[in-house]
Amino acid sequence: MATEASDKHNRRRHIVLNSHPSGGQSPIPINWGADNPGSRGPIVTNLTAEGRHNAIGTHSGSYSIYRALAVAAGALDPSHRPDLTNTAPVTSIGPHRQWSEPHRIVSLDPYGHLVTECFETELRNGLDIRPSIAVTRARLSLPELMHANTSGLTPDGAILLESGEINVTKVALEPVWHLPGVAARFDLEEHDLRRILYEQTGGMFSDLVTRNDLKVFLPPIGGATVYIFGNPEYLVDERHRLTCRVHDECNGSDVFGSDICTCRPYLVHGIEECVREAQKDGVGLVVYNRKEGRALGEVTKFLVYNARKRQIGGDRADAYFERTECVAGVQDVRFQELMPDVLNWLGITRIDRFVSMSNMKYDALVAQGIQVGERVSLPDALIPDDAQVEMEAKKAAGYFTSGDVLSEDDLAKTRGRQLESY
Ligand SMILES: [Zn+2]
Repeated sequence: MATEASDKHNRRRHIVLNSHPSGGQSPIPINWGADNPGSRGPIVTNLTAEGRHNAIGTHSGSYSIYRALAVAAGALDPSHRPDLTNTAPVTSIGPHRQWSEPHRIVSLDPYGHLVTECFETELRNGLDIRPSIAVTRARLSLPELMHANTSGLTPDGAILLESGEINVTKVALEPVWHLPGVAARFDLEEHDLRRILYEQTGGMFSDLVTRNDLKVFLPPIGGATVYIFGNPEYLVDERHRLTCRVHDECNGSDVFGSDICTCRPYLVHGIEECVREAQKDGVGLVVYNRKEGRALGEVTKFLVYNARKRQIGGDRADAYFERTECVAGVQDVRFQELMPDVLNWLGITRIDRFVSMSNMKYDALVAQGIQVGERVSLPDALIPDDAQVEMEAKKAAGYFTSGDVLSEDDLAKTRGRQLESY
């Protein structure tokens, strides 16, 4: 809100440090895991440094930085409030019993899509409450199904159209972390988690260490997108089978078709299996997590590609994980421990067909109370030549396969393309 103390961009002239609250304002109460939104309370961030709030950080994940840049550039009025007219979900999701089970959901706000419904009074009274989840519909057109349909799927006119397009319900979710719950999930003390998050972001969120009364953190990281094939109500109805793929982002393969990994082939195979299940009166689910390059980022990933292809003996399956560890200090930071939250949010208790070979994803789902039936490997015919290194290395490291696992000698013989051969 513009006041006399605001500058031409509607910003306050003085800087308000949240760690030194004036007027002794206590946070808006939040009772994480309560069985109704009224008792739970809304998640409120502190964009304007005015009024009470209860969360550290703000909405939109990493894009919050672009929002800040827009304000700094004078393109966005910082006092702007979203007009949420007609933005409500296109289909009902929840509430489910998992929403109020202790520590079952710790990395998203179960009521994030129901803000206008659950907190109508608070919004009317001027509280700045924003959705962290949105539910809409989409029609997908994948070249694999549109132009060269080798999947054996036949159009049904509802899920898969004659044109090859697919009708889906899709959900975007931003991360909302309940710090005590996240700490418990990793068997950490909350104060250790807070301190390391503060230190390892270069002191980005000082409230993590100064405001122990604020238990919710909206981290500046990517979230997830859920694609539902068929009737969303079937996800929680055990009379209908569920096929599911949980996929971690890989821009190079998913979008551009780079052949060094199996990501897009597996994603498309997962989508085809989801359509197949939905056509048989079941339901399909793809969860797409923004965790580029095993959540190490794309720069690290490309450095590793070079290191793999330039090492003595060339790109070899037996040194696949080692090269990542040399560059990043660790093999993988995707931490599947938080991944099951979105499935629990959807109310899912069992997956009949899990289209993934990842032992980490499987273990995480089972640990969070989700039964997994059949596990579906990527068919050999869909593995690009240059991705054999990754696939054989992963199977040797414990990934699920119904086929053979190579010996150490054979792993060393599994080679990828050399840099000179592009
Ligand atoms: Zn990939």
